[in-house]
Amino acid sequence: MDEVQLKIEKAHPSDFGRGIIRLDPNTLLNLQLSPGDIVEIKGKKRTAAKVWRADRQDWGQGLARIDGFIRQNAGVSIGEKVTIKKANVVPAEKVVLAPPEGVVIEFGENTSEVIKHNLQKRPLVMGDVVPIISSMTQPMTGPMAGGQAVPLIAVETDPMDMVVIITETTEVELRQKPVRGYDTARGITYEDIGGLGDEIQRVREMIELPMKHPELFQRLNIDPPKGVILYGPPGTGKTLIAKAVAGEAGANFLYIAGPEIMGKYYGESEERIRNIFEDATADAPSIIFIDEIDSIAPKRENVTGEVERRVVAQLLTMLDGMEERGQVIVIGATNRLDAIDPALRRPGRFDREIEIGVPDLSGRLEILQIHTRGMPLDEDVDLDELAGNTQGFVGADMLALVQESAMKSLRRCLPDLDLDEEIPPETLEKINVSALDFENALKE
Ligand code: ADP
Repeated sequence: MDEVQLKIEKAHPSDFGRGIIRLDPNTLLNLQLSPGDIVEIKGKKRTAAKVWRADRQDWGQGLARIDGFIRQNAGVSIGEKVTIKKANVVPAEKVVLAPPEGVVIEFGENTSEVIKHNLQKRPLVMGDVVPIISSMTQPMTGPMAGGQAVPLIAVETDPMDMVVIITETTEVELRQKPVRGYDTARGITYEDIGGLGDEIQRVREMIELPMKHPELFQRLNIDPPKGVILYGPPGTGKTLIAKAVAGEAGANFLYIAGPEIMGKYYGESEERIRNIFEDATADAPSIIFIDEIDSIAPKRENVTGEVERRVVAQLLTMLDGMEERGQVIVIGATNRLDAIDPALRRPGRFDREIEIGVPDLSGRLEILQIHTRGMPLDEDVDLDELAGNTQGFVGADMLALVQESAMKSLRRCLPDLDLDEEIPPETLEKINVSALDFENALKE
């Protein structure tokens, strides 16, 4: 066999950003591949990845696991099919990379060395987005630490139009001029979410599917939802899921902070809501995310203010007036489902609900793996044990713990550093986060 069709599934958290595809022994045999080989992946676009062996439970299911970057490069999402075949790989003479708009990169002296090191032996195709996980890069928005990968775009490869691989002799150039039209919110993928597998599955069926395949819903004569409520304690990943589904569905993400939209002047809040809905429709597909929706639309018996009444009325008007079903979906988030005006929860409005709960042990482990991605950890750090010791923590708590532990390690090293000088790479390389740093951070 020359090529096979496989269904795409999300990557394991620890595979994220590594440019690998997990294939089962059957596929390896059919395509005469061994782990370490490079394959070409064709969806709506073409890209490449390095082959690794799949975990046993994935065998014989006709699936392949790749991360959000590779999915984006191949133009596919989870559940869709791609064609896989052995790639014809050539060493790159030269590769030019550029950041997307909104990503700031410190241009140190050895920038291209760091990038080269990061992308060593990595296959790519011109136009690919590749993640750089390194302390020298820093996204302008979002959490600073926590192993967020910074995307770079391969704007030029020599030779062009081939799967190339970066080797010792490849000339790597970083162009400072950012590439337009690459939305950094799209950088968030399902691999950035720990746990919540079933919840993500439901969000995908409810939101991603109707956005991408309205014809399915037309055929069955069922209406996709207009509004979905995500409810659960703060910091459990409601905003994260909404961003990820927007990213994966290729939709715009428009954010409304509930408490902030309540403007002071007569009519201002309503106008803002109207504008956001109009933008979302003009630019569909879009997801409108209303955080703390209970503050906009509290139960009417609790409402004293005239503003709230008018804002709820406006929101209902916009929802009821939405015609292009499935192309604009409003996600509301709240800590308390019962605090929302029941008028909003009638059929045809926010009529679907998904609970986003506190993570269990395996969820906490995944969240730890996600937030320690790209962080240098001492060998004595045992993430399993940490997950066991953090019962009751939500995702945001886990993030705070990881960041505090990193700060502890920094404070531990600071006395030995000469801060008047640039810190030499040998010294930098010795800075790790240890089990004790985590232990100390946990005590606080
Ligand atoms: P919510 O909207 O439920 O209040 P957020 O999505 O804003 O929570 O979470 C805040 C931050 O906490 C996220 O940006 C992320 O870094 C981290 N976080 C929360 N939940 C998770 C999760 N399930 N997996 C990974 N990170 C998470």
